[in-house]
Amino acid sequence: MNLEYPVTYIAGISVQRAALLYTELGIKTCNDLLNFFPFRYIDKTAFYAIKDLQPSSSEVQIVGKITHVKSVAQKRGSRLVATFQDATGSMELVWFKGQKWIKDSLKINEPYVVYGKLNHYNGSFSIPHPEIELVTNYKKKLQSKMQPVYPSTEKLNNSGVSNKLMRNYIQNLLQQCYDGIQETLSQEIITDFNLMNKREALLNVHFPKNQEKLARAQNRLKFEELFFIQLQLVRKKLIHKSKIKGFSFETVGDVFNQFYSEKLPFDLTNAQKRVLKEIRKDVASGAHMNRLLQGDVGSGKTIVAILAMLLAIDNGFQATIMAPTEILANQHFTAVSELLGDLNIQVAILTGSVRAKRRREIHEQLENGTLHILVGTHALLEDKVQFNNLGIAIIDEQHRFGVKQRAKLWSKNTLPPHILVMTATPIPRTLAMSVYGDLDISVIDELPPGRKEVKTVHRYDSNRLSVFKFMKDEIAKGRQVYIVYPLIEESEAMDYKDLMDGYESVSREFPSPKYQISIVHGKMKPADKDYEMQRFVKGETQIMVATTVIEVGVNVPNASVMIIESSERFGLSQLHQLRGRVGRGADQSYCILLSSFKLSSEAKTRLETMVETTDGFKIAEVDLKLRGPGNIMGTQQSGVLNLKIADVVKDSKILVAARNTAITVLQEDANLEKAVNLPIKNTFAKITRSSKIWSNIS
Ligand code: ADP
Ligand code: MG
Repeated sequence: MNLEYPVTYIAGISVQRAALLYTELGIKTCNDLLNFFPFRYIDKTAFYAIKDLQPSSSEVQIVGKITHVKSVAQKRGSRLVATFQDATGSMELVWFKGQKWIKDSLKINEPYVVYGKLNHYNGSFSIPHPEIELVTNYKKKLQSKMQPVYPSTEKLNNSGVSNKLMRNYIQNLLQQCYDGIQETLSQEIITDFNLMNKREALLNVHFPKNQEKLARAQNRLKFEELFFIQLQLVRKKLIHKSKIKGFSFETVGDVFNQFYSEKLPFDLTNAQKRVLKEIRKDVASGAHMNRLLQGDVGSGKTIVAILAMLLAIDNGFQATIMAPTEILANQHFTAVSELLGDLNIQVAILTGSVRAKRRREIHEQLENGTLHILVGTHALLEDKVQFNNLGIAIIDEQHRFGVKQRAKLWSKNTLPPHILVMTATPIPRTLAMSVYGDLDISVIDELPPGRKEVKTVHRYDSNRLSVFKFMKDEIAKGRQVYIVYPLIEESEAMDYKDLMDGYESVSREFPSPKYQISIVHGKMKPADKDYEMQRFVKGETQIMVATTVIEVGVNVPNASVMIIESSERFGLSQLHQLRGRVGRGADQSYCILLSSFKLSSEAKTRLETMVETTDGFKIAEVDLKLRGPGNIMGTQQSGVLNLKIADVVKDSKILVAARNTAITVLQEDANLEKAVNLPIKNTFAKITRSSKIWSNIS
């Protein structure tokens, strides 16, 4: 039977039932039903002896004989009681409904398998309304051992589509189509990983013979599911590399070399060197670079970006770096200008607040090629901004930009400029494999030397006075302090009130003129926000009271204390980002997490994790475990997380194996033309027709 046929081809499924399966579960074809997997199993592989029954065993299966059946009168009506015995003892089976029919059908002294929830009363055991089946029938059936339990809906249940019925449907389907189930993986892969074949796996995922077979069946199906996703992603990446041409930066020239040997203010870390090599290889390959650079806050991504831009300039190209906020763009502009100062490189900044006259100058210099580097915000995506010869675009803090905005960069030259996206939100490796599997990824996993770890503590609100005292001591040493309040959209008004109350109490505790305080929040006009920020950046204020608007990127090395109010309300990655605002200078820095006494266990884990480690990747792992992959920044739009059987977190080992296998297969046989890969080719063709996996960077 063709598995693409509608489920009405299966014995027992009427047109109405089929319609219900479709609306309730999205099951349309036989294949859909075959891939509708149980979410748990009732294990009927074990048999109990009556003497071994424990008051605690919940559901049990016993083989024995009925020796006697009687009706027992009770307050209302009667109950049917059968005495059930095995070689070790005796117990009762009890029915309250359908007594007549059951009584007539029960056979005395014939071996039965009974299954059900055990009751324990006055020292004796009974099972009410057991599932009961003659051993002779039991042996004939597919589903007679471990029983699958399928996801269901209220409507299905109310319409009589019970779990038992689902089992029957699938059993019928398997009996009708078993021989027609095609293998989807190559024999090579099956042998290498000692996988169960497809038919057996499908049979055992629905009707497992035992736990071991179930595990092997699940393993096989998970591998397959992850393998085909990875095959799509890896193929997309290879096609990108082979089909999309990019400018070739062939020489490492004077500017780069002079900067590297004379101007670089420090030695690069090994991680920075490695990433730089990866970038250099990409931009010299003739293909288009589409690379994601992950590196924790403070890991030194900027210098890598600058060096990459110099490679472009040495080869006669222009470069641009785009930041999500005006403040960040300003900081990049300052850093770039200072570092490249006397190298005869022209740098400009373009943001929303640049005046029309200056804007026109910039446009002109961009077009005639006298401007080498343009730093900016979204403003540089405007159509009016035309480059003479843009070679590389660097995007800082990836998640703030959408796909469309990135696509705009592509139209700024005859070939798409190389793209380097930098993010300080670490994504665990296995998740990155799924979500950004079609990109090249570089990781800076090492902080510059001499960096002092930010000392992190958790304090309850009741300790606020000692926290204020600590702030005063640090300010007396010349340091600056952030105090951050949560901003959650649903309760904006309340958060705003918290912020203002907080600001007032801080103002009382830290009176002017001795102390100066900046305040920044989302309701302020951009210009006012900027003014307040600048006062803090320049050191005119010692305290910055803010909502999370400061989350991204600001660099104030003299700020060494980060106080997070209601820290239990922040997510882990946000807490980590906020902490990254301090620890940027030479002084010991501190992060104080304030919270109420009432903490959920998740909140407790978050705060403990923050106190324990400053490693962004470790924090991301915990975050992933707490919240699941769908809630991690940047993964939402990714279709690759809608998995039927695999779990990108729990099955990370299988995921890594599947990815490596996909890479090997495509390296050896890019178009899947070899005979051994025919099953893969056929399956792949079907999948790519019906699904669309895309990455939110491309
Ligand atoms: P981020 O990755 O968060 O963007 P930055 O590029 O802003 O980090 O770097 C953080 C700080 O570390 C900057 O002050 C920078 O000058 C400094 N830095 C970067 N790389 C090194 C290095 N290899 N050795 C010493 N300091 C470095
Ligand atoms: Mg940065």
